[in-house]
Amino acid sequence: MADGPADNAALVLFSGGQDSTVCLAWALQRYASVETVGFDYGQRHTVELACRERLRTELSAVFPEWGERLGPDHCLKLEALGQISDTALTRDAEIAFAESGLPTTFVPGRNLLFFTYAAALGYRRGITRLVGGMCETDYSGYPDCRAATLTALNDAIRLGTDMAFVIETPLMHLDKAQTWALADDIGGPAFVDIVREHTHSCYLGERSRRHDWGYGCGACPACELRAKGYEAWRAG
Ligand code: ZN
Repeated sequence: MADGPADNAALVLFSGGQDSTVCLAWALQRYASVETVGFDYGQRHTVELACRERLRTELSAVFPEWGERLGPDHCLKLEALGQISDTALTRDAEIAFAESGLPTTFVPGRNLLFFTYAAALGYRRGITRLVGGMCETDYSGYPDCRAATLTALNDAIRLGTDMAFVIETPLMHLDKAQTWALADDIGGPAFVDIVREHTHSCYLGERSRRHDWGYGCGACPACELRAKGYEAWRAG
């Protein structure tokens, strides 16, 4: 393995959604230097990507110690992924569940590509910690979110780069209520408010309706999951 890269730095896969924002705060709490990477693959709604810069600004303003640790943002265009994915996120198809049990929002193999690109970027930046908000607990069976998939991918990336990459997924075994609780543990009400106000998870790109848990249509699978988790956390 090549040596040299600092293990006090992390690169966070940051979409502007709730999960990746909690992961960003998690990393800012732990690492001296944190960079973010986002992927533009022709999502039908770019509202999530538009939330990213706002979130970085808010986190730095409300938590100055995080602002000092927050390094550059990188946005990589993966248009080919949009081209080969016949999904509701990239085309005007209805969100539904296919016979496989997977929602039509599933972009096949998306996280395999995201982490591979993140590793290539991390290699150039001298960062070996790659952080992502994947979770196998209450998602709809996305096979590229499973711990086993990401462990195997971590091995492949290490072998393929000869660099000691570590994929970290702090939300892997948490449900959505526990993710809200983690946000509260990390940054208290001030951070929970940033998550409610500035993150975006709705599959339909809806931001005109504000609920207790944030903006969204309130009816798509992502909104339902987020709302239920928020209610369960508040009730607990
Ligand atoms: Zn929604």
